[in-house]
Amino acid sequence: MGRFLGRAVGVAACVAALAATLCGQEGVASAPVPGAPGPAETLYTQLGDVGLDPSRVFHIRDASIDRGAVHITLNDGTIAFTQDVAGKVTGAFFEGDGEVLVSPPNRVERASMALFTGGAILEETFSTAYLRFNDQAMPQWKSKVSPTDVATAFVTQWNETARILSQMDALRLLLTFAQDLPPASPALSTTEHPDSYLHARIQGHKLGKFDVYYDTHSPEQVRVTQMRTMQEDSYYDTWTSFAVGQSGRPPDDLTSDTGDGAAADEIHIEKYKIRAEVRPPTELKATTELQLDVREGGSRTILFELSRFLKVERAEADEIPVEFIHNPALEGSRLAARGDDLVALVFPKPLVTGEHMRLRFTYSGDVLADAGSGLLYVGARGTWYPNRGLEMADFDLQFRYPPAWELVATGKQTQELDGAMPTSTDGVSRWVTEHPIPLAGFNLGKYVRAQSHAGDVAIDVYAARGVEKTFPQGSKEGMDPAHPLLAMPVAPSPAKNAQPVADLAAKAIDFFSSRFGPYPYAKLAITQMPGNLSQGWPGLIFLSSFSFLDNTERASLHMSDVDNVMDKYLLVHETAHQWWGDTVTWAGYRDQWLVEALANYSSLMLLESLDPAGFRMVMEQYRENLLETNDDGVPLTKDGPVTLGGRLSNSQFPHGYETISYQRGTWLLHMLRCMMRDAEHEKNPSAEHNGPDAFQKTLLKLRERYAGKPITTADVIRAFEADMPPSLYYEGHKSLDWFYQGWVNGSAIPRLRLQNVKFTEHAAETLVSGTIQQGEAPEDMVTSVPVYAVTNKRTVLLGRVFADGPETPFHLKAPAGTRKIMLDPEQTVLTQVK
Ligand SMILES: [Zn+2]
Repeated sequence: MGRFLGRAVGVAACVAALAATLCGQEGVASAPVPGAPGPAETLYTQLGDVGLDPSRVFHIRDASIDRGAVHITLNDGTIAFTQDVAGKVTGAFFEGDGEVLVSPPNRVERASMALFTGGAILEETFSTAYLRFNDQAMPQWKSKVSPTDVATAFVTQWNETARILSQMDALRLLLTFAQDLPPASPALSTTEHPDSYLHARIQGHKLGKFDVYYDTHSPEQVRVTQMRTMQEDSYYDTWTSFAVGQSGRPPDDLTSDTGDGAAADEIHIEKYKIRAEVRPPTELKATTELQLDVREGGSRTILFELSRFLKVERAEADEIPVEFIHNPALEGSRLAARGDDLVALVFPKPLVTGEHMRLRFTYSGDVLADAGSGLLYVGARGTWYPNRGLEMADFDLQFRYPPAWELVATGKQTQELDGAMPTSTDGVSRWVTEHPIPLAGFNLGKYVRAQSHAGDVAIDVYAARGVEKTFPQGSKEGMDPAHPLLAMPVAPSPAKNAQPVADLAAKAIDFFSSRFGPYPYAKLAITQMPGNLSQGWPGLIFLSSFSFLDNTERASLHMSDVDNVMDKYLLVHETAHQWWGDTVTWAGYRDQWLVEALANYSSLMLLESLDPAGFRMVMEQYRENLLETNDDGVPLTKDGPVTLGGRLSNSQFPHGYETISYQRGTWLLHMLRCMMRDAEHEKNPSAEHNGPDAFQKTLLKLRERYAGKPITTADVIRAFEADMPPSLYYEGHKSLDWFYQGWVNGSAIPRLRLQNVKFTEHAAETLVSGTIQQGEAPEDMVTSVPVYAVTNKRTVLLGRVFADGPETPFHLKAPAGTRKIMLDPEQTVLTQVK
């Protein structure tokens, strides 16, 4: 499901806020169903508004619930079960003495738990718990309950709380119980695909309110989360999330990487046809037709993501109306944290494997905002049409919009319009994909156009004459110390700087296509976007107004040199997403860092080729950023490895995801590249280096192999293993497992020191021995360290040593007369250098 975390890096880009913070609009649109609510909506409403049953309140002792790695014990207290919904008990409220135990299965998950709770294992006593389930927990407790005389008081006290909390799980329970709607269909649950769900909202004694989930529909069945509000900002903290598998034993190795999108989808959408009318300043009206294949039948419900600001009027399957439920993400839920709102379609009978279907949604709403200067803010970019997350599909888009606006979309523009056109002066344009793309979007504004070319790829830049009204402007009072950006003396004009933007993108396309294969689309459109976020969509870049500034304008913003470079190269980063992210997509949240790191490092390889000093400056800035601590003095290295994806942004480190996945991710790729480069050099020291290097050749293979497909962290590690020269074998194994364990799935930044260095003259060379100390790293951390001899103001690579644990002795041969050696003088390894 939803993987629309935005793609951005740079000065102040706030990525995770993508669809959730739309133009400050508040409120929730609920979808009206013509006439009376249908059976599915009635069921959904009941599931989300269920209170406690006064006739089912008991004293309970020594009852337990065990699901996967979740153990909840109700030692002694009072429990009230909820009223029946469709003849079933689906929840209970407990007050008394209880305990919850969750043991995360591996080092990363235990460290994550410890970051948020102070302990590697969740072991918490509690006084109240609200439980929700789909698998009839009550009968198991028959022998544990006895009558109580406090029933009325208990229900009076807790009924309203239980009723409010019941909304949280309504949609998930609907997936189970919609199967029972008339005409009843076989239950969703089979031994192969169990359907077991438990959610406990717990009021812990030490840790406050938190949620424990066990859900067999999720690839990571166990999840413990907490919603925290700090200084008016809300954070969704994931304490732990892991798969338990059939055996109940979680995996902890590379071969069993799981992510929330890694599982094959039961529905495949082949083609979208969208007919939309855009009415600035706010409105979008659209009909979206989807051709889909049911790959695995049995369910009666399909979930789609669609912005809460778009109200569905009608949903049809093969021309027959289908019941739908619009479920805006609940405040504080995981979906809200991702900005996803869902629409559920509930079919009159279970879907059949192999079935083809045409769905049509008709909807409208306010998802645009006038940002000023002829710029519209297109909100809900990832959810303006119903979709199931990133998945390769063909798109046929046609838009109607008022004259004077220009609209640019993903796909190739065609003059063949669909349907009779009105005689009005409206603009109409149609965009059809040449091959499947993972997502589609559009932008519109009152633009000035500039053009450049890279081979036969046309690059069109669409920039407005001005910037959005919220852009920092010159103020008569001069500079506001709290907002240095207010120092802008003159309003900048992106249109004026559109040509250099087009030229830089052309340079990027030339550079990338000569290394990672041809540019994948017919054109690249770069459109100005208000705000400081940028995104690289297939053939369409939304580029922040900030990235259109010229050097004088940047200077007047008092941006640091390194911020200048990073802001300028944001365009190159977004261009690199055409290969990494749009052509090769990612499998699950644990793999998302890959496309950010690949796009970012690709942009920095171009920077390095044009401006080596700028490249080193950016890498050094990243190193410093990665060594920062938060306000409580907790180092960012404690936030976890790149493989935690969006979980890295949390109440402890609000921008952890951006810093770690982009910047540590970039360093990881740089380390791999330098290892391969050194190995090539050792093999053939006098070789000329023109064209793609070994690292870039592996990336080309990745692009060729995974074009149109999602990639996992394991895929990338294996691709580099396959191309690894023997000099990089650690302990004789053709394996990068040490790199995965310590660097990719680890978060330390070690400190390296040379000790006990001795030089011995031997024939025509000098033998060097010594010890590499590795500190501030786990005992089992392995680091490949280049060792150089310094002779006559020249440094010569002697070789690489695997620093394994705290102390590693080494022996190397050096040119005769060597009296000084250094570890990694070119700073190609992410270590602490100060
Ligand atoms: Zn990005």
